[in-house]
Amino acid sequence: MTRQHIRNLTMPELREVVTSHGEPEYRYRQLAKWLYEKLADTFADMTDLPAGYRDLLEAGYSAQSACVVSMQESAIDGTRKYLFELHDGGRIESVMMPYDQRTTLCVSSQVGCPLDCVFCETAKGKFQRNLTAGEIVDQVCVLKRDAGLAGRKVNVVFMGMGEPLLNFDEVVRSIRILNDPLGLDMGAKRITVSTSSFPDRIRALADADVSCSLALSLNAPNDETRSTLMPKAARFAIEELLEAANYFVQSGNRRATLEYILLSGINTKDEDAAALAELARGYPFKLNLIPYNPGRQSEFDSISEADIDRFVRQLVPKVPTVTVRRSRGLDIDAACGQLWTKSLTEKEKPVKEAGE
Ligand code: SAH
Repeated sequence: MTRQHIRNLTMPELREVVTSHGEPEYRYRQLAKWLYEKLADTFADMTDLPAGYRDLLEAGYSAQSACVVSMQESAIDGTRKYLFELHDGGRIESVMMPYDQRTTLCVSSQVGCPLDCVFCETAKGKFQRNLTAGEIVDQVCVLKRDAGLAGRKVNVVFMGMGEPLLNFDEVVRSIRILNDPLGLDMGAKRITVSTSSFPDRIRALADADVSCSLALSLNAPNDETRSTLMPKAARFAIEELLEAANYFVQSGNRRATLEYILLSGINTKDEDAAALAELARGYPFKLNLIPYNPGRQSEFDSISEADIDRFVRQLVPKVPTVTVRRSRGLDIDAACGQLWTKSLTEKEKPVKEAGE
């Protein structure tokens, strides 16, 4: 019999399971504390649970389903990149980015991705499957534990491998577990779902009873350029996407950001800045510019600091907030999908490669 992964369960479901075992109600609070506050990965560690009950849980459930295969730490900024193996051999990656005042965890929502965005490393491998909520939550728990952040607040962004809104149900379920005070106890500002498309699902996320923020990967100043960069995502028009993102903000007093990758000479001309400002005008979105992070076989040129500066200057007077995301972990293949595509082609080293 295959064991169920206990981190797939929402807190009400966990309570249900524990009481169905004939245990007192408070037992599920103890269990949740071990799983989400102390970040235990085995039932044997849960020393204040009766030994017989630990054995019963061990027989029917796993406390963690994703195992770390390798971890690399950036010598430049302490960013850590993890490659996980799942029960069926599927591999995903997650990134931990420490900043002065906060830590951001970047998690995957799918093994591979069915959208073939031309600049994205994940698109170079094959789409395999959706992740379960437990596999998403595991990434958060393992990274927190590894960074010594048990019981501390972190931020989570769904910007790793995959398109979260194509795995809607499991992503929403994972956010329920992240939100719950007995789960990871995270509010809307700490969780960002990043999507490239699907206006109906953006609206459905707005209407779901979960708390999160939204990032829309716009990446182009018009539908024509967008369809060359993100052919599948561009099935829906930019205007429809902006309207859906606005619905997300207005219907719940939530935050949405537009993400715009800077591909030198492709979407960074003066006329592109003007068109982008025109699109963003009148909406309450922040704009986050992401300089292209080159993969190992980079097909695009990196943008110069001077060109970034020039692009920003044209937007600043017109768009409420413009930020530039600085690349993290450039020495450890930390761009979306880089470690995964590498592991598809080479046998990775199973140990920490700090400083390499
Ligand atoms: N599918 C989702 C989430 C994964 S991609 C989405 O598209 O939003 C997360 C972010 O990384 C997106 O904004 C995407 O445009 C950006 N991205 C992908 N490849 C990149 C690269 N090589 N350099 C910089 N940003 C990249």
